[in-house]
Amino acid sequence: MTDTYPNTQLHIAGDWKSAEAGETINVINPATEEVIGHVAHARIADLDAALEAAESGFKIWKKTSANQRYKVMRKAAELLRSRVDQIATIMTLEQGKPFAEAKGETLFGAEIIDWFAEESRRTYGRVIPARMDGVTQLVVKEPVGPVAAFTPWNFPINQAVRKVSGAVAAGCSIILKGPEETPASCAALLKCFIDAELPDGVVNLVYGIPSEISEYLIPHQSIRKVTFTGSTAVGKQLAALAGAHMKRVTMELGGHSPAIVFEDADVDVALKVLTANKFRNAGQVCVSPTRFLVHEKHYDRFVEGFTDFASNLPVGDGMDQNTKMGPLAHDRRIDAIEGFVSDAVSKGANILTGGERKGNKGYFFEPTVITDVPMDSRIMNEEPFGPVAPIMPFSDFDAVVAEANRLDYGLAAYAYTKSAKTAEAIGNAFESGMVSINHHGIALIETPFGGVKDSGYGSEGGSEAIDAYLNTKFITQAGI
Ligand code: NAD
Repeated sequence: MTDTYPNTQLHIAGDWKSAEAGETINVINPATEEVIGHVAHARIADLDAALEAAESGFKIWKKTSANQRYKVMRKAAELLRSRVDQIATIMTLEQGKPFAEAKGETLFGAEIIDWFAEESRRTYGRVIPARMDGVTQLVVKEPVGPVAAFTPWNFPINQAVRKVSGAVAAGCSIILKGPEETPASCAALLKCFIDAELPDGVVNLVYGIPSEISEYLIPHQSIRKVTFTGSTAVGKQLAALAGAHMKRVTMELGGHSPAIVFEDADVDVALKVLTANKFRNAGQVCVSPTRFLVHEKHYDRFVEGFTDFASNLPVGDGMDQNTKMGPLAHDRRIDAIEGFVSDAVSKGANILTGGERKGNKGYFFEPTVITDVPMDSRIMNEEPFGPVAPIMPFSDFDAVVAEANRLDYGLAAYAYTKSAKTAEAIGNAFESGMVSINHHGIALIETPFGGVKDSGYGSEGGSEAIDAYLNTKFITQAGI
């Protein structure tokens, strides 16, 4: 156990508490494979208590003025900022990402809370002109009700803060099932809301067996909205369950983002931005560029530049100042990435750098570049979610668009070109919820964030994000 890493409790009805049955789950530092602490493991009795708390929290919060919600949220954001070093340390210890990335994520979390706080004061309705004299037609926005939210381990704060802030801003209560692999930084985020004096029951936090929790909460009559971030496979199961019980749903699922470098691109800019974004968080990012499609004129130079960057990237413990890429977050990712690489190689791909687990302690994997990757290899079809970059040449616009849109994913897509005509054409052609051209401009809180096709539906950014937690009610009234 380390002094700086806290054990994590559940938060239900205003209290931090152990699970009713006293069960816990171990938390492992992915850089050392050591058990650094534990998290309380909720069972049905704890979930029942959380549901009851969310019901009573909702009754209070939905009647709290938007101005008061704003004030509480702004205070939560300030607390998060003031605790950044402590929280970022916790995040690096449990998740593995470099400390600077953990710090950036925490500070951006505060920006997200601030932004939703502002939005909470702007959830306007409207008046629709009536056809008859004496009739008033109003459209009002009301909070949807208690929310069940499920967030993953890759961004323990960023994934949770979008859901918690959206729900709280709209006047909902929430039960968050946080990530069991990285529980303490997520709990530290919630503590900022609680210490900002959010009423008891508005925000509740549980951990446990994901399927046990989702199968209990989603059908429950208290829950009115379901929001999930994670894999497409799990998202489809949860959306089906929510559909069977007619619950509002937001699904932020996996991606397999094409990154196209056209003939007239600034290759230096493309290389700089794409390499940095490929290996950020060891590639465990849903909007990470993952299929690199490079015009044949630049192919050799791009491959050389990418390989050079990858082979010189300092990989190590995230607490080491020199580290630019930490370990994968858990052992399942090591198995998955080894599987992708061996499958591609068995089908004829070439490894230019990396391809192996690094060392025999910690879940480190070498930054990897592969070429000549057959289209039927798994990495060209399944979300890689790791530090492996497959690079392919192309010569023809229509063919590269067909490849970009070939998969069922549609989360993010990238292109580099100096031509306004090509930029417009590719912006229109991508089947993707988000498109970024000549830079990496995705995931700012004021801009929409979400996918199409198998990458899900709904948005967790922009003005659409708070709408996800609001019902629209129409009231028409005639004078008596
Ligand atoms: P996984 O599919 O088992 O789990 C993904 C996430 O969903 C985890 O947070 C997990 O706790 C949760 N989950 C799993 N089953 C659930 C259920 N029945 N009910 C509620 N929540 C459930 O895989 P994993 O090994 O944890 O992660 C690997 C894959 O997950 C990656 O390949 C990637 O596609 C996806 N993923 C996506 C994101 C994202 O930001 N979209 C984040 C993390 C993981």
